[in-house]
Amino acid sequence: MPLPRRSSLPVRIGKVSMGGAAPVVVQSMTNTDTADVAATAKQVAELWRAGSELVRITVNTPEAAAAVPRIREKLDRMNVEVPLIGDFHYNGHQLLTQEPAAAQALAKYRINPGNVGFGRKRDSQFATLIELALQYGKPVRIGVNWGSLDQALAAQLMDENHARAQPWDAPRVMREALIRSALDSAQRAVEIGLPRERIVLSCKVSGVQELIAVYRDLAARCDYALHLGLTEAGMGSKGIVASTAALSVLLQEGIGDTIRISLTPEPGASRTQEVIVAQELLQTMGLRAFTPLVTACPGCGRTTSEFFQELAKTVQEHVRAKMPEWKLSHPGAENLTLAVMGCVVNGPGESRHANIGISLPGTGEAPAAPVFIDGQKAMTLRGERIAEEFVAVIDDYVERRFG
Ligand code: SF4
Repeated sequence: MPLPRRSSLPVRIGKVSMGGAAPVVVQSMTNTDTADVAATAKQVAELWRAGSELVRITVNTPEAAAAVPRIREKLDRMNVEVPLIGDFHYNGHQLLTQEPAAAQALAKYRINPGNVGFGRKRDSQFATLIELALQYGKPVRIGVNWGSLDQALAAQLMDENHARAQPWDAPRVMREALIRSALDSAQRAVEIGLPRERIVLSCKVSGVQELIAVYRDLAARCDYALHLGLTEAGMGSKGIVASTAALSVLLQEGIGDTIRISLTPEPGASRTQEVIVAQELLQTMGLRAFTPLVTACPGCGRTTSEFFQELAKTVQEHVRAKMPEWKLSHPGAENLTLAVMGCVVNGPGESRHANIGISLPGTGEAPAAPVFIDGQKAMTLRGERIAEEFVAVIDDYVERRFG
């Protein structure tokens, strides 16, 4: 059953559509030094190949700004079409003014209203950024973060709250400050001349319940396209669970036009994990399809061998590796469902629900693995080459059905 989607303004970011009737867009962010052209282009390409449809890069120094057009050229030579978003804090107005080629090469500018400038300079520096977006025809994301909230606005709202007959509690004041920072900044951008269809908003916090409350309120008060993300989600399973818990509630309510999963990578781990988590979140919710999903049982005392875990891993890695090619040559393969099950208890039943499923023998069962295709038992695999043969069955099915 398709989920309802909140009605939001459509935004174009390079060739990517966001908001309106467009599907929820997956984006990610590099963690390389942007001034290092080779390393940044390499990581952008990796994120794009993993499925990131937009990639954000930090633009924090003159060297980083000077590198942006060179990164764009390098990506173009590699046929990596992904739009680049520049992430600016404190000096974006200067960097974009001094490096017109960077202003041109970026497909969107991310502006943090809490870090755009202080005192009297804040409004003029914000205006400069919006005028640059107008000059170069770019959209902007007004990205508020509670770690860098506009302190003047926060103080003003505290004062207003003290004057209330029944003051709000502190979390509600904080939410209001985040939302007002985003909405007031968007209104200033519109007054300067930026079309509303070139504005995306975000209000990120690191608490799950707070994020849900902030975005429900923000979504009810505007029709701008919304970027969802739990900021500083953390490392490993904590980051994945916290992001999923927050974003799935909002997506279920139709809130959110693009998502980023802000995972802290394990040392040495690939940055692409955040893209895979974002894709799997959208796919398991039935919002989009990116790669065949593998259903696998957790295993228990009925299967003492690790073989079924290894097979599930082999199958998952195989379809993920094949998907970039299938995307072009076998469209629709991303909707395939696969099952790798450990024993006869739920194996045949779960396998029948998948397009292709295999029920491996549990401890004490005959060493035979029935394979089910579209609900029907199609063959039984035996012996040492079950993994290779099952992968061949998948490839053959994809060729016949989507080729
Ligand atoms: S399918 Fe079999 S092996 Fe897998 S969890 Fe269920 S009972 Fe255990």
